[in-house]
Amino acid sequence: MDAEYYKLSAENAAGLFERARADYDVVAKTRDANGNLVYGRPVSFEDVAFVDEQPPMSAKAFALPQNETLVRYERGGGEIRAETPEAPARDLLLFGVNVCDAAAFDIIDRVFQWDYLDDPYLARRERTTQLALACTALQRDCFCNRISYAEDGVDAVAYPREGHYLVKIQTDNGRRLVERYRNLFAEADGDPETEITSFLEKAGTAKREPLLETAQSGLAGAFEHADWEILASTCIGCGICTYTCPTCHCFDIQDEGGYVGGRRLRTWDHCTGRTFTAMPAHQPRDRQYKRYRQRLLHKFWYYPERFGPVLCTGCGRCITHCPVKINIKELVEYFGGLSDAPPGGRRHAP
Ligand code: SF4
Ligand code: SF4
Repeated sequence: MDAEYYKLSAENAAGLFERARADYDVVAKTRDANGNLVYGRPVSFEDVAFVDEQPPMSAKAFALPQNETLVRYERGGGEIRAETPEAPARDLLLFGVNVCDAAAFDIIDRVFQWDYLDDPYLARRERTTQLALACTALQRDCFCNRISYAEDGVDAVAYPREGHYLVKIQTDNGRRLVERYRNLFAEADGDPETEITSFLEKAGTAKREPLLETAQSGLAGAFEHADWEILASTCIGCGICTYTCPTCHCFDIQDEGGYVGGRRLRTWDHCTGRTFTAMPAHQPRDRQYKRYRQRLLHKFWYYPERFGPVLCTGCGRCITHCPVKINIKELVEYFGGLSDAPPGGRRHAP
């Protein structure tokens, strides 16, 4: 659809939140009891945190929970009863989420509706509407300006202006949101696209040449690069980068229970872990640097080769939260041939 533009006053933004709570399960940034920034379910508009800062955990768990029961069974009375999860009872509204976190869903969607339709995930996505909030500045580790992820898949984006938001509607889902609360929105005046462009330039989030996509061909020739061992072997395989990442989506399946009853459970997994892809007789990624290499190449080579965009929004969480300070952006630039300087100045001895 062609984009549509509206003005939402600050006062009407509060009204939108309150009215939407009656119709949606509303998720927004808020503070937990300890003051930590999280994606949660604030009960009043005053509890919503309108900040550029990202919560450590992205919003992906609202479509792909950290743990979920895929099927539960019970045996008794000569029969076996099996239950699959019910579809979500309410529509979900992601209110004021970071644009990169909203865009990450579109990237994961491609996997979950590719060779197999993942019903539980897709049922949740079907009922999700995103009203993202544009950042006013790049954060310390972000590099979304270097990644050309598909922002136009985000249902609606609100750009903060003086006393109001300029809201860009990009999908039918976003249009339904406006139609539902039409009296809160006014038609935008002037030239909204020019206004948005100048907002992004001022914020530093305007897309520059998407350099990290151009690293793909360089990475394809760097699989055997000798420096992987030096530069990626500091990884301790903790999985923090994948758990906090909005686009990582690998999971494990566990069966629990026995003859009389049990369940099949899906839990997040991570490719940097020692047992990931391990087989009884062999672990093909038998060194830690190979496991980290897999994560990076999956994001910037294998996934784009199959689906188009890179498997990354440049949110920077994996840099911020890595306990050993591995920097994926610098590694992509180095192994992709965009920079001669190895991260940290370390280089494999010739
Ligand atoms: S790259 Fe960092 S965060 Fe990720 S598994 Fe390795 S040590 Fe943990
Ligand atoms: S790989 Fe790192 S920078 Fe990219 S989306 Fe995941 S956490 Fe964010």
